[in-house]
Amino acid sequence: MEKDCIFCNIDKSKIIFGNDSFIAMMDEFPVSKGHMLIISRRHIENIFDLTMNEAESLQLMLIEVKKYLTMHYHPDGFNIGCNCGESAGQTVMHFHMHVIPRYKCDVKNPRGGVRGVIPKKRNY
Ligand code: AMP
Ligand code: ZN
Repeated sequence: MEKDCIFCNIDKSKIIFGNDSFIAMMDEFPVSKGHMLIISRRHIENIFDLTMNEAESLQLMLIEVKKYLTMHYHPDGFNIGCNCGESAGQTVMHFHMHVIPRYKCDVKNPRGGVRGVIPKKRNY
């Protein structure tokens, strides 16, 4: 628990569900309708710091989040990912996985998806 970390100090009422190691909540500045974050209960920086137990628990949580989003938002696809390190775009240095629902025609040409982290390399 870090006193200055926003994800260590989440308002509990924002938690949609959780398990022993993770909570799931809506992203405050969503990229798309239903954008959720899976956040570790432990203050660790990124996915490389997870124990094997936590990695398994993360997968179970991801499946729960997918069920929840499918039921409530009916997306056509998902982008799932973690920004690891400032150079990769990470702004909150506490592990979180983005689960971003995608919808047909939400962008003109979705080809390449997460390759868009380097925008001009997205479409190949
Ligand atoms: P990253 O750039 O991967 O570190 O992403 C941090 C994410 O946290 C961004 O998508 C933000 O919109 C989201 N975020 C920042 N502050 C909050 C907050 N107080 N509650 C929920 N999500 C937040
Ligand atoms: Zn933290």
